Amino acid sequence: MMSTTNTINSTNTKDSKNNSVSDLVRQLVQDLVPYASARSSMSGGAVWLNANENALAPAYQLDGTFNRYPSCQPKAVIDAYAAYAGVAPEQVLVSRGADEGIELLIRSFCEPKQDSITICPPTYGMYAISAESNQTAVNKVLLVNNEQLDLAGIFATTPKLVFICSPNNPTGDLIPREQIIAVLEQFQGKALVVVDEAYIEFAPSASVVPLLSRYPHLVILRTLSKAFGLAGLRCGFTLAAPEVINALKKLIAPYPIAEPVAQIAAQALAPAGIAQMQQSVATINQLRQEFCQFAQGLEGVQKVWPSNANYVLLQVADAAACVAALINDDILIRNQSSQLGLSQVVRVSIGNPDEMQRLKQAMLNYFSANKRVSA
Ligand code: PMP
Repeated sequence: MMSTTNTINSTNTKDSKNNSVSDLVRQLVQDLVPYASARSSMSGGAVWLNANENALAPAYQLDGTFNRYPSCQPKAVIDAYAAYAGVAPEQVLVSRGADEGIELLIRSFCEPKQDSITICPPTYGMYAISAESNQTAVNKVLLVNNEQLDLAGIFATTPKLVFICSPNNPTGDLIPREQIIAVLEQFQGKALVVVDEAYIEFAPSASVVPLLSRYPHLVILRTLSKAFGLAGLRCGFTLAAPEVINALKKLIAPYPIAEPVAQIAAQALAPAGIAQMQQSVATINQLRQEFCQFAQGLEGVQKVWPSNANYVLLQVADAAACVAALINDDILIRNQSSQLGLSQVVRVSIGNPDEMQRLKQAMLNYFSANKRVSA
């Protein structure tokens, strides 16, 4: 006997032929504006300074065969990251980038159409996009002067998750530790406080890992995409109390970390890999300092945000024109002017010494040409 679901009725067939497949997409997804990643929004060029990647990339080797499914949470990677971060292995989840950590936190802790998250713009765009795709409202409490939390504003919200990005993308500032503690105190027993430390290796003493033992509702996001120079690997970490990690493990896909990813991550987290990362951080911090000094001396740059990461935010007269001028010189940087609380700003990722030299020359050309036009 044919089941009702398998019965084809001619009217239905005709109707479904008239509908386009895209009509079948959930309304929520039809309405969603996806995240415009640096890679998806700009292509071409020779010097890529638009995605906060690390140009000082180490090379890795793979070995073995890949006929077996990998471990869901590869022990070598978990143990190595726990040792590196100074936490217990039970406090670590490895995922497909910190982005997957953000998504898992929202899916695990926010009831759709009921709960909300609180974010502090200008900040990383994926918190809001992951929330929207889980039908979770987003409370936006702007940073004060683009560098401090508006504590009263945050305390007036009733979220399930508070996202604090430190160093903050795109401003580069560190959120004061006392403010993070104030948020933790306020939301004890009510919400998780998620501190995104994607760029923390560039300012390691600012990490809030030491607070994990005092606050079981503190969650820290980390990644191999930045200081470790492995954005292409897609490997990130969530550090939290075992209860939080176990909740996330219930929702994560069965095999989120491909075997080649696990092998490379384990190499990157071995002592030699960590030493190499620290060396590249020292180089990048030095190049950033030099670039900030250079940018401060450029007449067309109205403000240089002090940065604790591998990028610098600059206020210019016309951000779109500045980005376009650099594209002509084969250099990609990112216009961040659409961020809430910012206007006419560009974000420049710190590249290798050659790339920074090309960038400086291109900026000199652009701003001196501009000066002549406006004179
Ligand atoms: N957090 C911040 C602040 C970021 O800038 C990024 C990447 N741009 C991420 C998280 C995501 O990192 P991953 O590459 O590990 O997904």
